[in-house]
Amino acid sequence: MDNASSTPVAVIGLGLMGRALAGAFLDAGHPTTVWNRTAAKADRLVARGATLAPTVEDAFRAAPLAIVCVTDHDAVRDVLGAGGGPDGTTVVNLTSGSSAQARGTARRVDPRGARYLDGAIMAVPPAVGTPDALILLSGPRSAFEAHESTLGVLGAVTHLGADPGLASLYDVGGLAMMWGVLNAWLQGTALLRTAGVDAATFAPFARHLAVTVADWLPGYAELVDRGSFPAEVSALETDARAMAHLVEESEAAGINAELPRLMKDLADRAIAAGHGGEQYPVLIGEFGRPGPA
Ligand code: NAP
Repeated sequence: MDNASSTPVAVIGLGLMGRALAGAFLDAGHPTTVWNRTAAKADRLVARGATLAPTVEDAFRAAPLAIVCVTDHDAVRDVLGAGGGPDGTTVVNLTSGSSAQARGTARRVDPRGARYLDGAIMAVPPAVGTPDALILLSGPRSAFEAHESTLGVLGAVTHLGADPGLASLYDVGGLAMMWGVLNAWLQGTALLRTAGVDAATFAPFARHLAVTVADWLPGYAELVDRGSFPAEVSALETDARAMAHLVEESEAAGINAELPRLMKDLADRAIAAGHGGEQYPVLIGEFGRPGPA
């Protein structure tokens, strides 16, 4: 285990997020080496006590823990270059990307003697350094445990498993949740506005439903994991009839009905496959395979 404030760290990439990460390490008292392609972005951090490395290789050599946060995985490839960090360095890549990119970067880094954790930051830069910054990490558990307290300076840090692609998958899975809830709320809001109900009036009702549905998830997850969907509350075909009302109301109101039609199409396919008498999460079968081209 590292020491919470004396472990040297390097931060490579000083965009909006990289500067926030380096600032959190400085605030916590860590000796912090920084590098950025455009060196001037390091000025304020240097004024706060950071050391500017002349080259990215120098930055990797300066600390046992190097955080990389650049635009995308092409930029990650550029900064890792032929090096990938000297022996013993733990590289924590907090650049957003896909699970395949994370696994590819891990394959390039690990054989070179560095250890690789891939990560995703589910927060905006001002939240970094507070418990509101959710930072997802995946890769070798030993690498995480070796630097857990130092990484904890950045926010609420969670290790998800040894597969380096997991952090990216949780990231996009979380985004699917976020956009799913927001799109459903916007659909309802658009409907209610046609009757003169403003968004602020509908919002508390929508929030109550979102929280109620969120509470169903643990029980529904058990059904999905068991692969058994007895209709104890309502059958999918009952949901599908209500979906038809949503489609009809949306069309009649002259608002966008694409999302309601998509929901109904998914349910109709599962019903056609013989699942109409089962509970809603039986739709995992539709989500778990490619849809129609
Ligand atoms: P940004 O402000 O645009 O900064 C991008 C950084 O990448 C800069 O330091 C830039 O260097 C560097 N860079 C780009 N291409 C490079 C290359 N080929 N070689 C070396 N360095 C290169 O972006 P950001 O907001 O800090 O985001 C960084 C990462 O964090 C992204 O993957 C983003 O998705 C993720 N993230 C951001 C937020 C957010 O709210 N900002 C939230 C969650 C996750 P120069 O200064 O020289 O251009």
